[in-house]
Amino acid sequence: MTFTLAIVGRPNVGKSTLFNRLVGKKLALVDDQPGVTRDLREGDAKLFDMRFTVIDTAGLEEVTDDSLQGRMRRLTERAVEMADICLFLIDGRVGVTPSDEVFADILRRKNAHVILGVNKAEGKAGDAGAIEAWSLGLGEPVRLSAEHGEGMDDLYHILKPIGEGFEERAAQDAPIVDVDVSEEEAELEADENAHKPTERHPLQIAVIGRPNAGKSTLINKIIGEDRLLTGPEAGITRDAISVRSTWFGTPTRIFDTAGMRKKARISDKLEKLSVADGLRAVRFAEVVVVLLDVEIPFEQQDLRIADFAETEGRAVVVAVNKWDLEGDKQEKLAELKEMFERLLPQLRGAPLVTVSAKTGRGLDRLHAAILKAHDVWNRRITTARLNSWLGAMTEAHPPPAPGGKRIKLRYMTQVKTRPPGFVVMCSHPDLMPESYRRYLVNGLRDHFDMPGTPIRITFRGQG
Ligand code: GDP
Ligand code: GDP
Repeated sequence: MTFTLAIVGRPNVGKSTLFNRLVGKKLALVDDQPGVTRDLREGDAKLFDMRFTVIDTAGLEEVTDDSLQGRMRRLTERAVEMADICLFLIDGRVGVTPSDEVFADILRRKNAHVILGVNKAEGKAGDAGAIEAWSLGLGEPVRLSAEHGEGMDDLYHILKPIGEGFEERAAQDAPIVDVDVSEEEAELEADENAHKPTERHPLQIAVIGRPNAGKSTLINKIIGEDRLLTGPEAGITRDAISVRSTWFGTPTRIFDTAGMRKKARISDKLEKLSVADGLRAVRFAEVVVVLLDVEIPFEQQDLRIADFAETEGRAVVVAVNKWDLEGDKQEKLAELKEMFERLLPQLRGAPLVTVSAKTGRGLDRLHAAILKAHDVWNRRITTARLNSWLGAMTEAHPPPAPGGKRIKLRYMTQVKTRPPGFVVMCSHPDLMPESYRRYLVNGLRDHFDMPGTPIRITFRGQG
């Protein structure tokens, strides 16, 4: 299992130097002067016994010119999309600059999995920078010296588990940020519509399900609504193909399935996609539609797929297809809901919509459910509201005292979105039982009306 690491950051922080060190060849050009234009480049990296692909985004001039800022942004976004994980470098001697904050913002927006590296930190040179780096809200910084090879063991220990199973991405590794409540409220207001789908940032959907569930029929129906269809576009990675369309007025981008390639008349020469390819589409999606066949719902394969989407932190909508074939709809619906609750407890609250891809019945409701799930996935709750809720929750049902040790919950804050992630500061975080986490997750879901999205809570000790 191998993965792709993108090294991103503003010019002159040492990206190429690190790239060279990892690739072991003088592939990338290193220059002291900012302003040397270079391209996105890829190399086979080796770090002790670990091998992976590395992408270098070096080569963007540090200028305020708009076109270059745009280029910088695009190049970084492209690298982020190609990569499984990003190493975001800052210069430890300079500290955090406004330009660094721009990059941090891109990474957050892209929902990238980020390691924050403070470079040029040989000796004690990067100490101040490393402390400042916490303010980026991207978690614990790793001190590195690309030039002198320091910190490579730390980098190794961080990357190793990712290399071993980056699919189990630890969405729970949420960074802790200090939040000024009034500032936060203002920011939230400004942010309210930031995630709404637009032409430039269409709603990203994957439709997954077992063969013959009706995926291609559904996708074609969605695409068919759109007269402005531009046709299939080349994928953002070697494996993914997407089609853009406007679906009930929402700019949409749907990621590939085998059926979609077939029906969209993309070259037949393309090799057949495996289930794994379908699963890969999940990783590019914001909302995953798990499409079931009403005749054989909730089969093993469906459960695996749904579970995968949840683990990956995607918003999930369950759609039951071929509803036109069903006689006693009311009874069937009750039966489906019962199965859903019993077989997919981890998706509690996710919407279940009945559709007929063939006739188009129910697609408006599916569209609405997808939009709502996307909204919830992006939801932010203020620290003030969270803590007043937390107070009520602990009063109603205090945390246990395992082995006589009282777990005290002190404070809670939301540290990320897409999906929502929270940190609760408490005593004895390691003793916190799973059942109490579930109590809080379910409570959050109900109280703040957050169906259809995974919710992560991490417990942290103070100090
Ligand atoms: P890029 O623009 O981000 O790719 O940065 P480069 O890799 O071209 O490095 C910019 C400058 O920083 C070069 O002069 C490097 O020699 C220097 N540099 C890179 N890494 C380190 C480091 O770990 N310590 C110190 N002191 N200088 C470094
Ligand atoms: P895929 O393998 O998941 O892409 O499934 P397809 O879209 O190729 O559909 C498999 C079969 O189910 C085809 O014969 C479709 O015509 C049929 N089908 C798809 N959606 C519906 C539906 O809503 N109702 C009925 N009755 N048949 C459907």
